[in-house]
Parts: sequence; structure tokens; C-alpha cells
Amino acid sequence: MAGRNHLYIPGPTNVPNEILNAMHVTMEDHRSPAFPKLLTPLLQDLKKIFRTETGQAFIFPATGTAGWEVALTNILNPGDKVLIYRFGQFSHLWAEMAKRLGFDVEIHQETWGKGIPLDKLEARLKEDTNHEIKAVLATHNETATGVTSDIGGVRKALSAANHPAFMFVDGVSSIASLDFRMEEWGVDAAISGSQKGFMMPAGGAFLAFSQKALKAVETSTYPRCFLDLKDQMNANKDGYTPYTPALPILYGLRKALDLLLEEGLENVYARHHRLAEGVRKAAAAWGLSICAQPGFESDTVTAIMVPADKDARDVISTAFSRYDISLGAGLSELAGKAFRIGHVGDMNDVSMLGCIAGVEMAMLDNGFDIKPGSGVAAAIEYYRSTAS
Ligand code: PLP
Repeated sequence: MAGRNHLYIPGPTNVPNEILNAMHVTMEDHRSPAFPKLLTPLLQDLKKIFRTETGQAFIFPATGTAGWEVALTNILNPGDKVLIYRFGQFSHLWAEMAKRLGFDVEIHQETWGKGIPLDKLEARLKEDTNHEIKAVLATHNETATGVTSDIGGVRKALSAANHPAFMFVDGVSSIASLDFRMEEWGVDAAISGSQKGFMMPAGGAFLAFSQKALKAVETSTYPRCFLDLKDQMNANKDGYTPYTPALPILYGLRKALDLLLEEGLENVYARHHRLAEGVRKAAAAWGLSICAQPGFESDTVTAIMVPADKDARDVISTAFSRYDISLGAGLSELAGKAFRIGHVGDMNDVSMLGCIAGVEMAMLDNGFDIKPGSGVAAAIEYYRSTAS
């Protein structure tokens, strides 16, 4: 099929040509005196995206899942109690990982469509007077449901309870696209990955640790090897890595950081908000609800619910085979009930309008009772009226 297949999944996202070109490099000696000139500024500039001055950034040749593991196994000790609110596939998987790694996982189930309930969290932390909970695991943006939680609010709950637990945040589908303030919110371990807001292929796990977390790394007795932060720190201090780095990922990251910092993080967040708002307006015009409940709507991904007599998988498959666009599937509980539109990364008004038009065609082909052009019209009005 001529033309591009556009990714409207919430990761991997479309990789801009500038990043693709930057990654097209010959291999070089990662032990040469030149290598630190690449790595050291990358680690410094990553901190700007995480928005921390006192924290330290890390790059692993891995994905977001490894980032979860880095945080758990480098800061905590075997058998430690961790608390997690589970409200979608990714918070579920993080909880499962913590169980498999032998932690004592206190799981609080929330409705899919809602995020972290701050009042309940505060009450639970206040009840934990012996400070048995060693870490709170917070999924900032639950990609499965299109739900964003209030991470500043998690810090407030910890402070209100005067609780010393570490705060780990999964920012895989939020960092570099949604407002994220590691320093201000007192995040101890922030986790992200290359293939969403960073607009790169998968293969880079990006993290930042607070000083409090780094101190805990010194004494943690959890066994680890490939994901040991001490090895990273030893090598990184001189501008090197403990094992062969994924060079194209590093060159891609250089370009991604330049693009993000040049646009300005506030502009990046505002762009994602506008694009998301257009998609939400389109869904409303189609008469379809979204999974996220009011106040929890994500600006990187929207899960759109289909009527009970329809199967969202048909929309996704028609969209792909007939119109060459990729939409996100409903995961687990949402399988068949929702399709997801990713509005994250290298996107603008017209790319979103292409998506909305393609979704509309695929829904019409599957007998949805919607007016042709209604979603596109709603998004056009919104984008035009808010264009700068
Ligand atoms: N956390 C969230 C919120 C995600 O969306 C994903 C992947 O989509 C992950 C973690 C896992 O990341 P990865 O697939 O890069 O291992």
C-alpha cells in the first residue's frame, strides 16, 4: 500500500526522520576517549526531561519493564512490603513482577477507568504506623485505560501521613509528554522508556533516582547483576557503561533530547493536551464514552468504548487492513470492548485528524451508528479554535 502506515498506538510511536537519521551510525569503540563526550551530556540532559536537579539519570539497554525491575531490586531488600494500586494492565504487570521477585505486595484494586485514590492512600499510610510499607508504586499514566493519576497528590498523601516510604513512579507513557516533576513531587525512582514520548524505537530504559534512593542502593541486599545500578554508577562516573551500549539508541536519544528541549517541555505538554482534547471531542461527537472517568483523562492515550453489540477488534482490524493505520487494542478486561488511540510523540493536528478520519471510516464499515464526518468536524473545530 502506498503512503505510510501511521502508528496511532500508544507506543512504539512514530519516529521522526531526524531521529531515524541520527540513529543511522556506524559502530564505534565504546571504550575510546571520545565516548564520554556522547554519554555524559546525555545523562545530564535526561535529568531535564525528568525535571530533577539533585537526582541522577540512568540508561539501560532494555525496556520499561526492566525499569520497573531496576527500581524494585536496587532500592529495596528481599521480602519488603510494597503498596500498589492496580487499575489496568500495566499496574497489574508491575504488581505481578513485584510478587515474582519475592516482595510482599499489598495490592489495592481500583476500577479500570480511575487512578490512584489519594484519600484511601493517605488513610492506608496513616494506618501503617510501624512503617512496614517500604515503597508506594504509582503508575502515572495507565496506558491500558488512558488514565492519568495525580503524582503530586501521592507525595502529599505520603507527607500528610509523615510516611518515609519510597515513591516509585512508572512514567513509561507520561515522561517526555505529560507534566512530570520529579524534584518537586519528591519521586525516588522515575521510570521511562524510549518508545513513547521520546519518539524512539524501543530499547532504552531511562530512569532517574533521588539521592535518598541512591543511598538505599548502597545497602540493598537484593541480588542483581545486569540491572545493578552500582555497576552503572561506577562506569557512568567516567562517562562509560558497564557493558556494550546500544549505540544507535544513544544517538537517537541525543536527537530526541535536542528536539524536546528545543520545543520546550511546557510546549510539549500543551501540544499533547490539545491533541488529546481533539480526540476526546471526536469521541463525544460519535456518542462514544471513554474508559477514563472525569478527572483522570490521559493526554497521551484515549481508550474509546464501543457499544455492547460491537467488537472493538473489528474496528482495529478494518482500520489496519483497509486504511493502513494502527490502533491500540483493548487489553485484558477491555479486550473487544475498547480500542485505544495513542496521541503521544511526534504528532500534530493533521496527523490526529488522519487518525480520527480513519477510525470513523473503520467504524462506519463495521455498521456503527455514527454520522460520517462528525468526529472529524468536532476535532477540526477544536483544533482551529485553539491553534496558535
Ligand atoms: N508501563 C507502562 C505504563 C507501559 O505503557 C508499558 C508499555 O507499554 C510498560 C510499563 C512496559 O514497557 P515496555 O513494554 O517498554 O517494557
